[in-house]
Amino acid sequence: MIKGYIPSTKKETDDLGWKKPDVVIVTGDAYIDHPYFQTASAGRFLNSKGFRTAMLDMPDISKDEDWKKFGRPALFFLVVSGKEDSMAMNYTAFKKFRSTDPYIPGGQRTHRPDRAVIRYCNKLKEFYKDVPVILAGPEAVCRMTTHYDYWTDKLRKPILFDSKADMVLFGNIEHNLVKICELIKSGQRLSDIRKLNGTAYISKEVPEIKSFIKLPSHEKMEKDSNFLSAHHMAVHRNQNPYRSNVMIQKVLDRFLVIHKAQLPLDESETDEIFGMGFKRKAHPKYKHEIPILKFIEDVFITHRGCLNDRSVSQELFTEGKFISSRSNEHIRKEVIHFIKSKEYNKTIKLFGLPYFNHYLVGVGNQKECSECDRLSCTLPDLCKNIKTRNGEIIRIIEGFDKFPNVRNNFYAGKPDMKLLLSDKEMYKDFLTNRNDGKVELSVESFSAPVRKLMGLDDEESILKDVKFLVKRAGEYGKKINFEASVTTGFPGQTDGEVDLNIKSLKDLAIGTGDVNNFIPLPLTLASVLYYTGTDPVTEDTTEVDKKLSIMKTHNEWYKKTRKGHKEKRA
Ligand code: SF4
Repeated sequence: MIKGYIPSTKKETDDLGWKKPDVVIVTGDAYIDHPYFQTASAGRFLNSKGFRTAMLDMPDISKDEDWKKFGRPALFFLVVSGKEDSMAMNYTAFKKFRSTDPYIPGGQRTHRPDRAVIRYCNKLKEFYKDVPVILAGPEAVCRMTTHYDYWTDKLRKPILFDSKADMVLFGNIEHNLVKICELIKSGQRLSDIRKLNGTAYISKEVPEIKSFIKLPSHEKMEKDSNFLSAHHMAVHRNQNPYRSNVMIQKVLDRFLVIHKAQLPLDESETDEIFGMGFKRKAHPKYKHEIPILKFIEDVFITHRGCLNDRSVSQELFTEGKFISSRSNEHIRKEVIHFIKSKEYNKTIKLFGLPYFNHYLVGVGNQKECSECDRLSCTLPDLCKNIKTRNGEIIRIIEGFDKFPNVRNNFYAGKPDMKLLLSDKEMYKDFLTNRNDGKVELSVESFSAPVRKLMGLDDEESILKDVKFLVKRAGEYGKKINFEASVTTGFPGQTDGEVDLNIKSLKDLAIGTGDVNNFIPLPLTLASVLYYTGTDPVTEDTTEVDKKLSIMKTHNEWYKKTRKGHKEKRA
């Protein structure tokens, strides 16, 4: 394991005595050594297994010297355009240029190019034509098959065709990266590695595989977008690893092969990834602060994974279906280490995306999952096959109260309401002890038809849940500032529905939280709805008014309901 940061300057690789790295990770973000970033966890994991890995952060495509910094790696390049899709990073939902970027020093947008994956790959092929390139991260993973692109209002081909890269890794990438390094070191070529779950590649022929799912060809969907629904539903349902199969899609005269989804990591595998001595800070070479740091500096990530494939979710592809959780012991170790550091500010926050209370959530009978085609395990209601260990979590977090000088010890992020309300001990503990006085609830809309299109529970259910939580907080004598996140611009949302939402918030006496301006991100089910007007889940049709002025008006309406509103990405 390397003691310092992953080398991200030539001096650092020279100081380590590396003639050349085995792997170079290219990222559009600054390098923050925190497990919140897949680039940091991948880089640390590879280095811990003896594969010399360097970080080429924020390269400028107009500066050749940036691309020559580490020279030719012995094994491959890994390209991750950043924590988010570069188009979503560079443009607002209103298709306006963003001037800020939370992932780079100073927070001002500089040189992250549009379609960064493709631009970075072009640059690598210019200098290192014969070095394999592997893709990971949201931009690559959610564009790995035919997808809708909001910024051109068109379907685009799988990204391997446009980028000329060799492979996409989806789900948990760290163990696959190590396997690939080992196989290449043992003499195989990347093009020989064809059986790893969680990988996608292009083949000239249909591979000899006993059974596979045939996806509609790219050209067929371009001609008739009705096939997009079936395509997206197959790709989404196939992420359930207990019923996953290989998928093959014809694109031009070649074939995209998407391997099966991976099983969630077990506890020791998860611990191994998160326990690699992250500095939890930005690399010291940066002169300016990186805005995202203030949100993650006292945050301890407890798990990864996705249980709810809501219509706007991309986590299914980037984190994998089902939850990979760390052990209590490993989280404690990390917290103790942090408490001894200069950065400790008497606050500890336990966190996981998209919901903090998915920690230690597993399934009972895997056979049931193998026969299940539900997109979400907690919506519209909690599946009986979901198994929680809430008592254990409460004991874990209570344990941190005893650490020296702890003033705040709570969860960060949003709760999964159905899970939270399923256990009195858990919601009581959350409301009384484990929040910072402000609780943001993921509501998005109170309108029945819109909630259905969003893949959420019905309006009666959400109203009941919110009321229940607010009432319990009152009974426990807690003054909590409840806020609800809402979405503007979602297909089917009318003026009347936004009025209803504002009225409901007022009746419930809760504030307007994040206002998410809807962006139909690649490979989401909502992108199909937006592009075709058909809900891929129910096949019901909806009129989609794409005028941005409507979203703008609704945004203004919400803005008026509260102070300090800031535009948020959907
Ligand atoms: S059986 Fe339940 S836990 Fe398993 S996949 Fe289906 S909804 Fe999820």
